[in-house]
Amino acid sequence: MRYDQARWTHDEERFEPLLSEKHTKEADLDDSPLPDELTRDSLELPDLSEPELARHYTRLSEMNYGVESGPYPLGSCTMKYNPKFTEDVAALPSAAVHPDRSPETVQGTLKLLYDLQDYLGRIGGMDAVTLQPPAGAAGEFTGVLVAKAYHEHNGEDRSEIIVPESAHGTNFASAALAGFDVVELPGGEDGRVDLDALEAALSEETALLMLTNPNTLGLFERDIEEIAEMVHDAGGLLYYDGANLNALLGQARPGDMGFDIMHYNVHKTFATPHGGGGPGAGPVGVVDRLAEFLPRPQVTQDGDKYELVDPEHSVGKVHGYLGNWLVLVKAYAYIARLGDEGLHDASAKAVLNANYLASQIEYEVPYGPFHHEFVASAGDQDAADVAKRMLDYGVHPPTTKWPEIVSEALMTEPTEIENMETLDQLAHAFNAVANEDDETLHNAPERTTARRIDQTSAARDLRLSWHALDDE
Ligand SMILES: *Cc1c(COP(=O)(O)O)cnc(C)c1O
Repeated sequence: MRYDQARWTHDEERFEPLLSEKHTKEADLDDSPLPDELTRDSLELPDLSEPELARHYTRLSEMNYGVESGPYPLGSCTMKYNPKFTEDVAALPSAAVHPDRSPETVQGTLKLLYDLQDYLGRIGGMDAVTLQPPAGAAGEFTGVLVAKAYHEHNGEDRSEIIVPESAHGTNFASAALAGFDVVELPGGEDGRVDLDALEAALSEETALLMLTNPNTLGLFERDIEEIAEMVHDAGGLLYYDGANLNALLGQARPGDMGFDIMHYNVHKTFATPHGGGGPGAGPVGVVDRLAEFLPRPQVTQDGDKYELVDPEHSVGKVHGYLGNWLVLVKAYAYIARLGDEGLHDASAKAVLNANYLASQIEYEVPYGPFHHEFVASAGDQDAADVAKRMLDYGVHPPTTKWPEIVSEALMTEPTEIENMETLDQLAHAFNAVANEDDETLHNAPERTTARRIDQTSAARDLRLSWHALDDE
């Protein structure tokens, strides 16, 4: 398969022009009731027909790569296709409710939220769920606050949170942001938690152990029950980073493994588009004894009436109103449509796809057996170069250089949405790149609209408005 990304150039230097550069018209400005110094005398606005506008956005999208262009195996991020029907549900007129309406007038809204709390609770094996946090990291922070409130309520001042070195960066950040000292846990030789190292790290200061299972290498922590016992014996709590629940749906539950707190990334596991910073939702589930510390309010049911109730020792609010409502509607619609069997099937396929793909690629996969994702090593090649070159084969590259336990890591998660043909296309891309020389890799990508970009500047020197271009 030969791939060339579209290139719509305006002139030598510039791609598709901005709308305001295409055609503008002086807006008719009515007299304003605002003071003169706050109003302007003239305003140029884009003046384009609908087809011109549609073409503009289509061209822009053709110069980009997305999950609707091809496979997107960005490990840990679960970039799966989001079925369109969830957008239809979120666009129903009845989903457009003003957040300030009184609970009696939005019973349907509350019922949906209540049911979603219940669904997520059952999926994770948790007794109570808050839907408020707007992202996975915000869920972690909320969960850490809940743990802190719990210990303080019991008259204990515990200052440390243990995080495995392979954990997602947000785990360290959430723990530190909540005022804890972070104790980094070195990994064992097999890529799992080393029980001796854990024993050494646990103390009276331990508030929480943050863990994910399957872990960052996609490996299942077989000793999880023993780990839970050790942490609980030390008086600590166990936190589950459930951002990547794709391997577990309907198969195993963090609550049954001994975890006390977990977050879910509905924008990874339950089909809401993500990337570029949201919007998402990172609900948090807890076991019974922690429910009284959840953010306020919680949606509860009394007979056939739904109410908003403040948990007794709530950590407070972590988001306006009840959270990112329309994202939650999409998660609800997705779970309701798939049902028990569909969710079970999705995780089985996610695991099968990862294992099939890993078996087809030439790069070494040092750790296993794994679940919904695997970490291959680019060996002598630079993983960043491999990623750039893969774009030339019409596929999105995997996550690179993380986790650091694997040198030149290629962390790959094909997700359940891909069929065998697409997995073979991915394998072909991996294998073609594995056999290419350094020069080809350094010069990649060749067939994309934008070539090698300065990634650091792209991340640190953001230009968020067309004014920034004007300033150049
Ligand atoms: C994505 C991710 C997070 C953070 O989720 P955000 O919604 O991006 O804040 C946390 N942990 C893991 C393992 C993740 O993959």
